[in-house]
Amino acid sequence: MRIRFLGTAAAEAPPSLWCECDLCRRDRAAAGREIRRRCGYLIDDDTLVDPGPDLFAQSLLFGIRWEKLRRILVTHFSRNGKATHRELVDFFAPHGVEVAYDGLEIVL
Ligand SMILES: [Zn+2]
Repeated sequence: MRIRFLGTAAAEAPPSLWCECDLCRRDRAAAGREIRRRCGYLIDDDTLVDPGPDLFAQSLLFGIRWEKLRRILVTHFSRNGKATHRELVDFFAPHGVEVAYDGLEIVL
């Protein structure tokens, strides 16, 4: 199994856009790994976990090709810019991607 961390930040994704605190200033100056995206994970190119608002940028940054994607797992919904279950189904189902629901059982 191979896991790619697409993002490891919480909703605010430091450095925060308008913040001038020491941490955000340090992260901005360091750049690279300190510029973090909202959390999300890709397992074996076919399982996406917790897609968030940075998904498009993450796709470009990591060169992800979505034609291998088969399922989306969502550990929780929140108001940090993540799509709703219905929005995920509407967007991904036409591409043959299953969006997890309560009670779904899969084998990885
Ligand atoms: Zn800050």
